[in-house]
Amino acid sequence: MLDKENISQSFDWEHFLSLIQLEVDQLSFDSWIKQLQYNKAQNGVLYIYAPSSFIKNWITINFKSIILDVMIKNFPYLTNVEIDVQSFGNSDLEDSEINMPLSSLNVYEEVNISNTFEFKLNPDYTFENFVVDKSNEFAYEAALRVAKQSQPSFNPLFIYGGVGLGKTHLMHSIAWELMKDKQNRKFLYLTAEKFAVLYVMALREKSIMSFKEMFRGTDILMIDDFQFIAGKEQTQEEFFHTFNSLISQGKQIVLTADKSPLSLYKIEERIISRLQAGLPVSINATTYELRVGILESKAKNLNIKIPKDVIDFLAHTITSNVRELEGALKRIISYHRIMNVKIDLSMSMTLLDDVVKYANKNISIELIQKKVAEHYNIKLVDISSIKKDKSTSTARHIAMYLSKQLTKASLPEIGKKFGGRDHTTVIYSVNKITEKLKTDMNLDSDIKLLMNVLQKM
Ligand code: ADP
Ligand code: MG
Repeated sequence: MLDKENISQSFDWEHFLSLIQLEVDQLSFDSWIKQLQYNKAQNGVLYIYAPSSFIKNWITINFKSIILDVMIKNFPYLTNVEIDVQSFGNSDLEDSEINMPLSSLNVYEEVNISNTFEFKLNPDYTFENFVVDKSNEFAYEAALRVAKQSQPSFNPLFIYGGVGLGKTHLMHSIAWELMKDKQNRKFLYLTAEKFAVLYVMALREKSIMSFKEMFRGTDILMIDDFQFIAGKEQTQEEFFHTFNSLISQGKQIVLTADKSPLSLYKIEERIISRLQAGLPVSINATTYELRVGILESKAKNLNIKIPKDVIDFLAHTITSNVRELEGALKRIISYHRIMNVKIDLSMSMTLLDDVVKYANKNISIELIQKKVAEHYNIKLVDISSIKKDKSTSTARHIAMYLSKQLTKASLPEIGKKFGGRDHTTVIYSVNKITEKLKTDMNLDSDIKLLMNVLQKM
């Protein structure tokens, strides 16, 4: 066994960098990783220099796990990395030049440092991949303008809307567009959480000057999930100054949040009024057409054909947000690939059982019974009765099947609502309809119609 003690290894730093480069986007590589310098590899530890403690912190938060990963895979004799601060350029201020008595800061804000994520732009989040309709076109147009125009015409751009509606997607799209752009405008993209973490770290490390320098030196500052800084007074204070500095230099700011500026909670009045003064645009809940458009576009990107009825089913059923819609589509596709089964409506419905029930939490068994009775022109009471003629029992089977698909009720609960029947009767009915659906096109379209009606109630 190789003795790790006191061995100074020869280490190919350039090769190491080229491996890291494969793992991070170009911008991160150029702005951060390239600033690092090799010190030594010794006793299983890779020692690196960073030009300032701010950069050291940023690297630690954002890239340390990538560095470790690359190291462990390619240089198995190394098991850890240590970053030391050593100024070797004049781009950053020496820490000693910064006079910020820590004791003057009595409250540290609660930030969970381990909770930060890798800064990596998602390659799928581009303007090309963003499907536009009336619920999001304003936000899309505004984001596109920010990316294309060198002078801000509205500042800040404040995009708000519920979870999973494409806010982060639009911000990454701006970033990708800026990278393609010849103007070489500098930008920073980060979450408000990370902004807060970095600020607290800068305070602790007394590197507040490099923090300020970095945020005030960018052409475009994008902060995602701005609502996160609610209640964090010091971070807000710092943000406020950063904001003013950038705006007065004619630099663009883009923010996203889950609520409109006026509905933001625990954010200083003066910040709210500045947000209001820019362009707040909302992304609204998805429309049925948008959901269909997104599903079609995703299926096309994945190079897979999804039957129209499956697309309709998904677009009708999963109305909460785009993330869930995508999740459902991905589940269907993975199932199809792994189990090698054809993608069709019944497979999709079975697979998304829980999602469907969740999405339809408001549909009651009583409502289903009522709609089914109306549709088949039978008396409501007969659905739960013992009548056994063909049309009544078919309607009953269908109502049970829909109750299973569209509500969270258990099989015994369903049985109870159908005249106190046993759960095995419910299973029998559900299976019967599931089987029939495979061949009976009329039944198939009836069920779809009923589902549509029920989902729109
Ligand atoms: P938010 O930041 O608003 O919570 P995201 O931007 O993370 O939402 O979007 C969630 C998912 O939905 C992402 O995978 C994104 O690509 C997708 N998405 C949202 N809106 C659209 C859209 N209009 N076109 C295509 N994909 C979208
Ligand atoms: Mg987001």
